[in-house]
Amino acid sequence: MSSTPEVTDGYVLCQDCGHAEPYTLDKHQNRESCPKCGGDFCGCNCCSEMGRLAVQFQTSATDVEGDEQ
Ligand SMILES: [Zn+2]
Ligand SMILES: [Zn+2]
Repeated sequence: MSSTPEVTDGYVLCQDCGHAEPYTLDKHQNRESCPKCGGDFCGCNCCSEMGRLAVQFQTSATDVEGDEQ
């Protein structure tokens, strides 16, 4: 039901410390480094799936803010 033409609902995963962030092209192409350790992100299918789980865990661990996306 979204009008977004291109869905990039994946994640990138830091190859050094495992920090996950929502996918962006800059991170996927290593133009943006991990804010925690300066390592490179990977946005392949495997890392995206791992990142999704990590972000969901991080999100559920913090308090609920009440906005859904
Ligand atoms: Zn890192
Ligand atoms: Zn990967």
